[in-house]
Amino acid sequence: MPLQPRPWISEVAPYQPGRPAPTGDGSLASNESPVAPSPAVLAAVASAAASGHRYPDPLADELRQALAEFHHVAPEEILVGNGSDELIFLLAWAFAAQAGTVVCAEPPYQIDAVSTRIVNATLTTVPLRDWVHDLPAMATVPADIAYLVNPHNPTGTLCSREDVAGFLSTTRSSLVVVDEAYIDFSDDPERNTAIPLINAGDIAVLRTFSKLFGLAGFRIGYLVANAELILALRRVRAPFSVGRVAQSAALASVRHRAEYSALRETIVSRRAALSRLFERAGFSVVPSQANFVLVRVGNETQLVDHFFEHGVAVRPGSALDIPGTIRVTVPTEAGLQLMADALRSAPEPSPSHRQSTLTSGSD
Ligand SMILES: *Cc1c(COP(=O)(O)O)cnc(C)c1O
Repeated sequence: MPLQPRPWISEVAPYQPGRPAPTGDGSLASNESPVAPSPAVLAAVASAAASGHRYPDPLADELRQALAEFHHVAPEEILVGNGSDELIFLLAWAFAAQAGTVVCAEPPYQIDAVSTRIVNATLTTVPLRDWVHDLPAMATVPADIAYLVNPHNPTGTLCSREDVAGFLSTTRSSLVVVDEAYIDFSDDPERNTAIPLINAGDIAVLRTFSKLFGLAGFRIGYLVANAELILALRRVRAPFSVGRVAQSAALASVRHRAEYSALRETIVSRRAALSRLFERAGFSVVPSQANFVLVRVGNETQLVDHFFEHGVAVRPGSALDIPGTIRVTVPTEAGLQLMADALRSAPEPSPSHRQSTLTSGSD
């Protein structure tokens, strides 16, 4: 018999990475950190690598312990994964596989959609309203899993904890997953996080070391949820999916957590500078609580190519199910300069995508 993948697998397109950035400072397509790992992280990594002939701790207990203390939860309420993307696949297998149902925003975070399809579950998407999750509409959809990405990717918009709590108590979904990959860049992460809700219902909160902590290349993230839910995910996980080098890098960054608050401030204020650049060039920018901004541009292909020629890679909205926009990561200071130079000679926005209300002043 000729070899064929399962029919629903054949319908899934393999992941398409963005074009490699022409320059490091101009790498604004993947929402990575603008800074490389700290000396403390590198030292921890070197020491973990020296024990590379040994399997890693399957549950990353030292890291779980440190994270549990930080979040005021029990270690049994944390599961560490090979990036939060792995945890999303585990959620799909455990709670939606074989004809289950999932509800996401439209546009969704791509991994939420793909993980649903590969386990042969059905995806319902609910359009954003003014760029924000339409929680009342999503709550009416009966599903096994509801995904809230908070702040959302690709828009950067945030729902309050009160809104998430309201959703949790009204939703017709069995499990609510709140993906907080970008929560550190929001105005008040402590107030906004859904972690205090983990015992108020069936809710799982996802966090990653890929964004503020700048460990995207190590692949490590975690999930916070009640202990029973964690146990279900442990049934389907590969025991050694998180290597010891990644565990040690994450542990070092948790122990040096305070040092990341200056970086957070820098990214938040540079996000404002990045938004101003686009607004002054006549584009409208969706107000963002993340480390990127979504810009409404009209003809995105022309603009994406123009930026590329000027050393800057941005993510075209068509690759994110939101054509007519570009998503731009908050860059380094040098990257901001590249962007400013590229914008000076950029094609004018088409009239329908100009800012409807020009911001006052021109600081
Ligand atoms: C970047 C991102 C993640 C992080 O994924 P990792 O696998 O931890 O690198 C998770 N969710 C969203 C919405 C993201 O944009």
